[in-house]
Amino acid sequence: MVTAYMPASVTEALTIKKKERERALLVAGGTDIMPAGQTAPVMIYLQGLHDLSNVTKSGAVLRIGASCTYTQLIHDERVPQVLRDAMHSIAAPAIRNAGTLVGNICRASPAGDTLPVLYALEAAVVAGHLTDAGVMDKRRIDIDDFIQGNRRIALAPDEIVLAVEIPCRSYENMTKMQSCKVGGRKAQAIAKLSFAGICRVEDNVLCEIRLAFGAVGLTVVRSRELEAKMRGLTLTELAAKKNEILKEYAALLQPIDDQRSTAAYRRQVCLNLLEDFLTL
Ligand SMILES: Cc1cc2nc3c(=O)[nH]c(=O)nc-3n(C[C@H](O)[C@H](O)[C@H](O)COP(=O)(O)OP(=O)(O)OC[C@H]3O[C@@H](n4cnc5c(N)ncnc54)[C@H](O)[C@@H]3O)c2cc1C
Repeated sequence: MVTAYMPASVTEALTIKKKERERALLVAGGTDIMPAGQTAPVMIYLQGLHDLSNVTKSGAVLRIGASCTYTQLIHDERVPQVLRDAMHSIAAPAIRNAGTLVGNICRASPAGDTLPVLYALEAAVVAGHLTDAGVMDKRRIDIDDFIQGNRRIALAPDEIVLAVEIPCRSYENMTKMQSCKVGGRKAQAIAKLSFAGICRVEDNVLCEIRLAFGAVGLTVVRSRELEAKMRGLTLTELAAKKNEILKEYAALLQPIDDQRSTAAYRRQVCLNLLEDFLTL
Protein backbone atom coordinates (compact mmCIF):
# COMPACT_ATOMS: atom_id res chain seq x y z
CA MET A 1 0.00 0.00 0.00
CA VAL A 2 1.17 3.51 -0.80
CA THR A 3 0.39 6.45 1.46
CA ALA A 4 0.34 9.73 -0.46
CA TYR A 5 0.70 13.13 1.16
CA MET A 6 0.07 16.56 -0.28
CA PRO A 7 1.46 18.76 2.48
CA ALA A 8 0.09 22.28 2.79
CA SER A 9 3.32 23.75 4.13
CA VAL A 10 7.06 23.16 4.05
CA THR A 11 7.03 22.39 7.77
CA GLU A 12 4.42 19.69 7.22
CA ALA A 13 6.48 18.20 4.36
CA LEU A 14 9.61 18.20 6.52
CA THR A 15 7.70 16.62 9.42
CA ILE A 16 6.63 13.73 7.20
CA LYS A 17 10.15 13.36 5.76
CA LYS A 18 11.69 13.36 9.24
CA LYS A 19 9.34 10.57 10.31
CA GLU A 20 9.45 8.43 7.14
CA ARG A 21 13.04 9.11 5.97
CA GLU A 22 14.10 6.61 3.21
CA ARG A 23 10.56 5.19 3.05
CA ALA A 24 9.34 8.50 1.60
CA LEU A 25 9.81 9.52 -2.04
CA LEU A 26 9.59 13.22 -2.87
CA VAL A 27 7.65 14.02 -6.03
CA ALA A 28 7.87 17.43 -7.73
CA GLY A 29 6.62 17.29 -11.34
CA GLY A 30 6.93 13.49 -11.45
CA THR A 31 8.36 13.59 -15.00
CA ASP A 32 11.35 11.46 -14.00
CA ILE A 33 9.59 9.38 -11.38
CA MET A 34 6.52 8.37 -13.36
CA PRO A 35 8.17 7.10 -16.59
CA ALA A 36 10.64 5.16 -14.42
CA GLY A 37 7.71 3.56 -12.55
CA GLN A 38 9.43 4.57 -9.32
CA THR A 39 7.35 4.13 -6.18
CA ALA A 40 7.76 3.98 -2.40
CA PRO A 41 5.61 3.20 0.65
CA VAL A 42 5.20 6.95 1.17
CA MET A 43 4.96 9.58 -1.56
CA ILE A 44 5.22 13.27 -0.69
CA TYR A 45 3.89 15.54 -3.45
CA LEU A 46 5.57 18.95 -3.45
CA GLN A 47 3.96 20.41 -6.57
CA GLY A 48 1.78 23.37 -5.75
CA LEU A 49 3.44 24.00 -2.39
CA HIS A 50 3.09 27.76 -2.31
CA ASP A 51 6.21 28.35 -0.18
CA LEU A 52 8.40 26.56 -2.74
CA SER A 53 6.84 28.04 -5.89
CA ASN A 54 8.41 31.49 -5.94
CA VAL A 55 11.42 33.20 -7.44
CA THR A 56 12.94 35.97 -5.34
CA LYS A 57 15.87 38.26 -5.93
CA SER A 58 17.17 39.70 -2.72
CA GLY A 59 20.53 41.36 -2.37
CA ALA A 60 23.08 39.47 -4.39
CA VAL A 61 21.20 36.18 -4.76
CA LEU A 62 18.50 34.86 -7.06
CA ARG A 63 16.50 32.19 -5.23
CA ILE A 64 14.39 29.69 -7.18
CA GLY A 65 11.90 27.66 -5.13
CA ALA A 66 12.02 23.88 -5.49
CA SER A 67 8.52 23.60 -6.95
CA CYS A 68 9.02 26.18 -9.73
CA THR A 69 8.34 24.58 -13.10
CA TYR A 70 10.39 25.11 -16.25
CA THR A 71 7.53 26.99 -17.91
CA GLN A 72 7.29 29.37 -14.98
CA LEU A 73 11.04 29.99 -15.01
CA ILE A 74 11.35 30.38 -18.78
CA HIS A 75 8.88 33.27 -18.55
CA ASP A 76 10.57 34.94 -15.60
CA GLU A 77 12.92 37.69 -16.76
CA ARG A 78 14.84 37.66 -13.48
CA VAL A 79 16.17 34.20 -14.38
CA PRO A 80 19.42 34.49 -16.38
CA GLN A 81 18.79 34.07 -20.10
CA VAL A 82 21.46 31.38 -20.39
CA LEU A 83 19.53 29.19 -17.91
CA ARG A 84 16.22 29.93 -19.62
CA ASP A 85 17.79 28.85 -22.94
CA ALA A 86 18.90 25.54 -21.38
CA MET A 87 15.43 24.93 -19.91
CA HIS A 88 13.85 25.72 -23.25
CA SER A 89 15.81 22.85 -24.82
CA ILE A 90 14.19 20.34 -22.46
CA ALA A 91 11.56 17.93 -23.75
CA ALA A 92 8.41 19.72 -24.98
CA PRO A 93 5.82 22.09 -23.43
CA ALA A 94 3.80 19.43 -21.58
CA ILE A 95 6.87 18.17 -19.71
CA ARG A 96 8.10 21.72 -19.10
CA ASN A 97 4.72 22.59 -17.57
CA ALA A 98 5.23 19.95 -14.88
CA GLY A 99 9.00 19.37 -14.62
CA THR A 100 11.12 21.38 -12.20
CA LEU A 101 14.68 22.64 -12.11
CA VAL A 102 15.18 21.04 -8.70
CA GLY A 103 13.87 17.70 -10.04
CA ASN A 104 16.55 17.88 -12.75
CA ILE A 105 19.24 18.53 -10.12
CA CYS A 106 18.04 15.81 -7.74
CA ARG A 107 17.83 13.28 -10.57
CA ALA A 108 21.55 13.95 -11.09
CA SER A 109 21.63 12.39 -14.55
CA PRO A 110 24.91 12.94 -16.42
CA ALA A 111 22.70 14.16 -19.29
CA GLY A 112 20.57 16.56 -17.20
CA ASP A 113 20.23 19.62 -19.43
CA THR A 114 20.30 22.32 -16.77
CA LEU A 115 23.35 21.03 -14.95
CA PRO A 116 26.24 22.49 -17.01
CA VAL A 117 24.65 25.95 -16.85
CA LEU A 118 24.07 25.65 -13.11
CA TYR A 119 27.75 24.69 -12.63
CA ALA A 120 28.82 27.67 -14.75
CA LEU A 121 26.52 29.92 -12.70
CA GLU A 122 28.06 28.58 -9.46
CA ALA A 123 24.61 27.63 -8.20
CA ALA A 124 23.98 26.11 -4.78
CA VAL A 125 21.20 24.01 -3.37
CA VAL A 126 19.42 24.88 -0.12
CA ALA A 127 18.35 21.80 1.82
CA GLY A 128 16.14 21.90 4.88
CA HIS A 129 15.27 19.53 7.71
CA LEU A 130 13.47 19.70 11.04
CA THR A 131 15.55 19.53 14.20
CA ASP A 132 14.40 17.40 17.15
CA ALA A 133 13.04 20.63 18.64
CA GLY A 134 10.83 20.97 15.56
CA VAL A 135 12.69 23.98 14.18
CA MET A 136 13.56 24.21 10.47
CA ASP A 137 17.30 24.11 9.86
CA LYS A 138 18.85 24.86 6.45
CA ARG A 139 22.19 24.26 4.81
CA ARG A 140 23.63 25.51 1.53
CA ILE A 141 25.56 23.07 -0.67
CA ASP A 142 27.46 24.06 -3.82
CA ILE A 143 26.07 22.21 -6.82
CA ASP A 144 29.33 20.39 -7.54
CA ASP A 145 29.38 19.04 -3.97
CA PHE A 146 25.67 18.22 -4.03
CA ILE A 147 25.86 16.08 -7.19
CA GLN A 148 28.15 13.21 -6.31
CA GLY A 149 27.72 10.87 -9.27
CA ASN A 150 25.17 9.37 -11.63
CA ARG A 151 21.90 9.66 -9.64
CA ARG A 152 23.81 10.28 -6.42
CA ILE A 153 23.20 13.43 -4.40
CA ALA A 154 24.34 14.62 -0.99
CA LEU A 155 20.93 14.77 0.66
CA ALA A 156 20.21 13.25 4.09
CA PRO A 157 17.12 11.02 4.48
CA ASP A 158 15.29 13.68 6.51
CA GLU A 159 16.10 16.55 4.12
CA ILE A 160 14.18 18.20 1.30
CA VAL A 161 15.67 20.60 -1.24
CA LEU A 162 13.91 23.91 -0.72
CA ALA A 163 15.55 26.08 -3.39
CA VAL A 164 18.38 26.73 -5.81
CA GLU A 165 20.43 29.85 -5.23
CA ILE A 166 22.38 31.62 -7.95
CA PRO A 167 24.75 34.46 -7.06
CA CYS A 168 23.90 37.49 -9.23
CA ARG A 169 27.60 38.27 -9.72
CA SER A 170 27.89 34.99 -11.64
CA TYR A 171 25.78 36.31 -14.52
CA GLU A 172 25.44 40.09 -14.25
CA ASN A 173 27.75 42.20 -16.46
CA MET A 174 29.09 39.22 -18.38
CA THR A 175 30.35 39.59 -21.96
CA LYS A 176 29.25 36.21 -23.27
CA MET A 177 26.93 33.53 -21.87
CA GLN A 178 26.16 30.46 -23.91
CA SER A 179 24.46 27.12 -23.39
CA CYS A 180 24.29 24.49 -26.06
CA LYS A 181 22.64 21.07 -26.14
CA VAL A 182 23.48 18.64 -28.92
CA GLY A 183 20.75 16.04 -29.36
CA GLY A 184 19.33 13.87 -32.11
CA ARG A 185 16.57 16.42 -32.79
CA LYS A 186 15.27 19.73 -31.43
CA ALA A 187 12.57 18.44 -29.06
CA GLN A 188 12.18 15.35 -26.86
CA ALA A 189 15.84 14.39 -27.18
CA ILE A 190 18.26 13.30 -24.49
CA ALA A 191 21.52 15.20 -24.89
CA LYS A 192 24.43 13.54 -26.64
CA LEU A 193 26.48 16.26 -24.96
CA SER A 194 26.00 19.76 -23.66
CA PHE A 195 28.13 22.80 -22.97
CA ALA A 196 27.84 26.04 -21.00
CA GLY A 197 30.24 28.96 -21.01
CA ILE A 198 30.22 32.32 -19.25
CA CYS A 199 32.92 34.97 -19.48
CA ARG A 200 33.67 38.64 -18.95
CA VAL A 201 36.20 40.61 -21.00
CA GLU A 202 37.38 44.02 -19.88
CA ASP A 203 39.91 46.18 -21.75
CA ASN A 204 40.83 43.21 -23.91
CA VAL A 205 41.58 41.04 -20.87
CA LEU A 206 39.69 37.88 -19.94
CA CYS A 207 38.69 38.73 -16.36
CA GLU A 208 36.28 35.89 -15.69
CA ILE A 209 35.58 32.52 -17.31
CA ARG A 210 33.56 29.47 -16.30
CA LEU A 211 33.11 26.44 -18.56
CA ALA A 212 31.12 23.25 -18.04
CA PHE A 213 30.43 20.15 -20.12
CA GLY A 214 27.54 17.69 -19.72
CA ALA A 215 27.12 14.02 -20.72
CA VAL A 216 30.87 13.47 -21.04
CA GLY A 217 31.48 12.10 -17.54
CA LEU A 218 29.57 10.76 -14.55
CA THR A 219 29.04 14.35 -13.42
CA VAL A 220 29.44 17.69 -15.15
CA VAL A 221 33.05 18.43 -16.13
CA ARG A 222 34.32 21.79 -14.90
CA SER A 223 37.95 22.65 -14.17
CA ARG A 224 38.54 25.61 -11.86
CA GLU A 225 42.28 25.05 -12.39
CA LEU A 226 42.12 25.54 -16.16
CA GLU A 227 39.77 28.49 -15.75
CA ALA A 228 42.28 30.12 -13.37
CA LYS A 229 45.02 29.62 -15.97
CA MET A 230 42.96 31.53 -18.55
CA ARG A 231 41.87 34.34 -16.22
CA GLY A 232 44.01 37.45 -16.72
CA LEU A 233 45.14 36.58 -20.25
CA THR A 234 44.78 39.22 -22.94
CA LEU A 235 42.66 38.11 -25.88
CA THR A 236 45.82 37.83 -28.01
CA GLU A 237 47.43 35.58 -25.40
CA LEU A 238 44.24 33.52 -25.16
CA ALA A 239 44.18 33.05 -28.94
CA ALA A 240 47.83 31.96 -28.88
CA LYS A 241 47.13 29.40 -26.14
CA LYS A 242 43.90 28.06 -27.61
CA ASN A 243 45.32 24.77 -28.88
CA GLU A 244 47.02 24.07 -25.56
CA ILE A 245 43.73 24.78 -23.71
CA LEU A 246 41.78 22.51 -26.05
CA LYS A 247 44.29 19.71 -25.43
CA GLU A 248 43.95 20.10 -21.68
CA TYR A 249 40.16 19.94 -21.85
CA ALA A 250 40.33 16.93 -24.20
CA ALA A 251 42.19 15.07 -21.45
CA LEU A 252 39.49 15.91 -18.89
CA LEU A 253 36.47 14.74 -20.88
CA GLN A 254 35.48 11.11 -20.38
CA PRO A 255 32.73 10.43 -22.91
CA ILE A 256 31.37 6.94 -23.58
CA ASP A 257 29.98 5.10 -26.60
CA ASP A 258 26.27 4.37 -26.23
CA GLN A 259 23.04 4.17 -28.27
CA ARG A 260 22.91 7.96 -28.60
CA SER A 261 26.42 8.72 -29.80
CA THR A 262 30.07 7.75 -29.84
CA ALA A 263 32.78 8.87 -27.45
CA ALA A 264 34.80 10.29 -30.35
CA TYR A 265 31.88 12.41 -31.59
CA ARG A 266 31.09 13.70 -28.10
CA ARG A 267 34.70 14.68 -27.42
CA GLN A 268 35.18 16.40 -30.78
CA VAL A 269 31.93 18.38 -30.63
CA CYS A 270 32.70 19.52 -27.06
CA LEU A 271 36.06 20.81 -28.25
CA ASN A 272 34.48 22.51 -31.26
CA LEU A 273 31.99 24.29 -28.97
CA LEU A 274 34.80 25.29 -26.65
CA GLU A 275 36.92 26.61 -29.49
CA ASP A 276 33.97 28.59 -30.77
CA PHE A 277 33.27 30.01 -27.30
CA LEU A 278 36.90 31.05 -26.85
CA THR A 279 36.79 33.04 -30.07
CA LEU A 280 36.18 36.38 -28.36
C1 LIG B 1 9.21 12.78 -22.33
C2 LIG B 1 10.30 13.29 -21.42
C3 LIG B 1 11.29 14.08 -21.95
C4 LIG B 1 12.33 14.57 -21.12
N1 LIG B 1 13.30 15.35 -21.70
C5 LIG B 1 14.30 15.82 -20.93
C6 LIG B 1 15.32 16.63 -21.51
O1 LIG B 1 15.29 17.00 -22.70
N2 LIG B 1 16.35 17.05 -20.71
C7 LIG B 1 16.40 16.71 -19.37
O2 LIG B 1 17.35 17.12 -18.70
N3 LIG B 1 15.44 15.94 -18.80
C8 LIG B 1 14.40 15.49 -19.54
N4 LIG B 1 13.42 14.71 -18.97
C9 LIG B 1 13.52 14.37 -17.55
C10 LIG B 1 12.71 15.28 -16.58
O3 LIG B 1 11.67 15.94 -17.22
C11 LIG B 1 13.60 16.33 -15.89
O4 LIG B 1 14.70 15.72 -15.24
C12 LIG B 1 12.82 17.16 -14.87
O5 LIG B 1 13.59 18.27 -14.50
C13 LIG B 1 12.46 16.40 -13.61
O6 LIG B 1 11.75 17.28 -12.76
P1 LIG B 1 10.45 16.79 -11.97
O7 LIG B 1 9.99 17.95 -11.17
O8 LIG B 1 9.47 16.16 -12.87
O9 LIG B 1 11.13 15.69 -11.02
P2 LIG B 1 10.47 14.41 -10.33
O10 LIG B 1 10.26 13.32 -11.33
O11 LIG B 1 9.32 14.79 -9.49
O12 LIG B 1 11.70 14.03 -9.36
C14 LIG B 1 12.99 13.71 -9.88
C15 LIG B 1 13.90 13.33 -8.70
O13 LIG B 1 14.11 14.47 -7.87
C16 LIG B 1 13.69 14.21 -6.53
N5 LIG B 1 13.14 15.47 -6.01
C17 LIG B 1 12.22 16.27 -6.61
N6 LIG B 1 12.02 17.38 -5.87
C18 LIG B 1 12.82 17.27 -4.78
C19 LIG B 1 13.08 18.11 -3.65
N7 LIG B 1 12.46 19.29 -3.50
N8 LIG B 1 14.00 17.71 -2.73
C20 LIG B 1 14.66 16.53 -2.90
N9 LIG B 1 14.46 15.69 -3.94
C21 LIG B 1 13.56 16.08 -4.87
C22 LIG B 1 12.67 13.10 -6.63
O14 LIG B 1 12.55 12.36 -5.42
C23 LIG B 1 13.29 12.28 -7.77
O15 LIG B 1 14.33 11.48 -7.29
C24 LIG B 1 12.36 14.23 -19.75
C25 LIG B 1 11.34 13.43 -19.21
C26 LIG B 1 10.32 12.97 -20.04
C27 LIG B 1 9.23 12.12 -19.42
